[in-house]
Formats: sequence, structure tokens, C-alpha cells
Amino acid sequence: MMISLPTRFEAYGAVKIFELSRVLELDSLGMSSKPSGTHTLDYETMEEYAASTAIVVPVKDEELITLEGVLRAIPHASPIVLVSASQVSPVDVYSREVELARTLHSVTGREILVIHQRDPAWAEVLAGTPLEDMLSGGAVRSGKGEGMILGVLAAAGIGARYVGFIDSDNYVPGAANEYSKIYYAGFSLSESPYTMVRIVWHYKGKLASSDMYLRKRGRVSMHTNSVINYALSRIRRVETDIVRTANSGEHAMSIDLALRMRWAGGFAVEPYQIVQLLEDCFLGLEGGSCRLLPEGVNILQIEARNPHIHAERGDEHIAGMLAESLGTVYHSRLGSDEEVRERILGLLKDYSYEGEPPKPRVYSLEGIDPDKTLSTLLAESQMAHYFK
Ligand code: GDP
Repeated sequence: MMISLPTRFEAYGAVKIFELSRVLELDSLGMSSKPSGTHTLDYETMEEYAASTAIVVPVKDEELITLEGVLRAIPHASPIVLVSASQVSPVDVYSREVELARTLHSVTGREILVIHQRDPAWAEVLAGTPLEDMLSGGAVRSGKGEGMILGVLAAAGIGARYVGFIDSDNYVPGAANEYSKIYYAGFSLSESPYTMVRIVWHYKGKLASSDMYLRKRGRVSMHTNSVINYALSRIRRVETDIVRTANSGEHAMSIDLALRMRWAGGFAVEPYQIVQLLEDCFLGLEGGSCRLLPEGVNILQIEARNPHIHAERGDEHIAGMLAESLGTVYHSRLGSDEEVRERILGLLKDYSYEGEPPKPRVYSLEGIDPDKTLSTLLAESQMAHYFK
């Protein structure tokens, strides 16, 4: 794979946000020279990074064939962690996912860990730990962010150095394959131990019953990006449009960063990553709340070549997701500016959402022992399966 080197970055305290870089070649097989201004990942280096990157796939009642396409697209060397919140009754969707993983493993030999978010074993595993807050009614709360946190713990527990996320509602297996390679490329490029790689879609579309339309940006991310950029512009008094990936479900980071960050529940999870890094390591730098010093964090934003084609959801889903996303800014120090809050409320009104957006539920992974968490889960659970 060959990507363009980002030409500039903006530094906000200890947070460096790089301008967009692009995939120049999906596959650089046969390339001997490395053109300047580019970063090429040869097969050997790619394999090294692949082997140390676990790919977490959150899933909740998606079509099995779509999930299968994603799982088959992830390079063999990367262990997969499938975190499911799918139903077990009346139809046992989860057991089909387990069967799919078992088959994949038995045919290809690839490593795959399957865990369920509502597994009662979590109650025992998380009781008395800082993540006890995630429990509700004897199991982990529903929500995408909560699922991703379990994915991070599992990835760290199996010894990965990096963790990447790929949504399971992706109809183009080639895109999932490309995202994985972009993560490896980003990690090999960055010098900080605290690195995050976020994908920008070239085009995005949804499969609806009507004709497909390829959008340049998602409806939610367009607004979240603009609000974060607006808040940053107001703070610095210099206009910026640097943030392009606020809602990027497709993103990856070093485990060192993942374990030091706080995480938000539900659909607030992705924008909250950026918001809290800016809160702690830019606005809160003086107060000593940044745990990523002295190295600081690098946020790379890389545009994939494949279109991002995913399932169509209704307007209500969009409004709820937008509210959860903008709630991260509204209730943060970035949102202490009246103008920013007014803008958020105005945007939500356009989506018929009245009132203040919800405050994100926030979890800290500090003090958690991922090895112990995973081994206790595997020992106690009737639902978790580790095919390796
Ligand atoms: P969108 O694609 O951004 O509109 O959001 P989706 O609702 O499709 O969710 C993105 C991904 O997260 C999909 O792969 C879903 O199957 C998955 N997902 C959504 N909610 C949950 C959840 O509560 N737990 C888990 N584990 N996965 C979820």
C-alpha cells in the first residue's frame, strides 16, 4: 500500500491532528523505489504490523452475509475480536455468529475471539473494577461504545499492541480489507506511542430500496466535524477545518493510548475520543490532566479508496446519533462557549430534536488488568469462544 504523507498538521497542546492523507496505491506489489512525499508499506512491514493489531468488529443483529464479508476481508495475521450484542431469542442470532467464526477458524486457521456484551459472566468479571459502572441489570449495558470497550480489553488481553475497529454493517469486503491496511500504514508512519488512525471515506453510500447515492460525507459526521472545528476556531481565533473524522467508526489506535483514554458509551464513543483528547491535552494541559505526556498524541486522518456502503437507518436513528455525538462537545470545555452551544441546539432543531443533547456516559479503564479480565471471562463464560 502507498499513502501520501500528510503535508501539515495542527497542534493543539499535546494533540497533533494531521491533515488528510490519501491512499495512492491499494497495493504496491513490485514497487522498488519510494517516491518522495509518500509512505509505502512493503509486505514484510505490513505483516509485522498486522500481527500486532487486533481488529475489533462490533455487531448487533446485522445480516450474517454482511458480517461474513467483513470477517473474510481482514488480513489473516490480525486476530479478530467479534463483540456481539445480537439477540439470543426468539431467534438465536448470536449462535449463528459463533458458528460463522468457528467455521472461519476451522477452514482458514485464523485466530478469532467471539464475546457477547450481554454475557452474564461480565457481572463477575467487572464487579469491583473501575468498569463496574458499565453493568446494568447483571450485564454490560447496550451501546456501541460499551461494546468497543470490551473489544479493547480483549485485544489487550490477547497481547495486541494495536487495536483497530471495523463496523460489521459494511457491504464491501474490499473496504474492510483496505481499512486494515490503512491502520498498519498509519502505525508504521507515526513516531508517538500514542497514535490514532481515523479513516475518511472517499464516498459513502447507504443501501436503500431506492437508487444508491454516493455521498462525500456522512450526515452525522458532517455536523460533528463542523461543530468541533467551529469550537477550535473560536478558541484559537484562527479558522480551521482540520477535523474530518469525528464520527469515524473505522479507526484504530495503539493499546497504550486506548488504555489511557476515557471512553464514552453508545454512539458518543467516536467523537468523544477527539473531544476528551482536546479537553485534557489542549485545554487542560496546564492543569496536569493530560496523561499522554511527554510524547503527545498523533491523530492521522487517511482517506480510503473504497466507497463506504453500509445499511440504511431511519431519520430517527440519525437524530439520536447526532444528539449523542454533539452532546460530547456540548457538555465539554469546548462547549463552554455560548456560540458553540447555540449552534449545537440549532442543528439538533433541524433534525426535530428538542432540548439539550444527552451528556455522554464516560468510563475509565485505569487500573483494569486486561489479561486477568480476559482469562476470567474465558474461564467463567458459557458464551465466549476463543478459536485459535
Ligand atoms: P451507523 O452505521 O454509523 O449508522 O451505526 P450502526 O447502528 O450501523 O452501528 C455501527 C456498528 O456498530 C454496526 O456494525 C452495528 O452492528 C454495531 N453496533 C451498534 N450498536 C451496537 C451495540 O450496542 N453493541 C455492539 N457490540 N455493536 C453495536
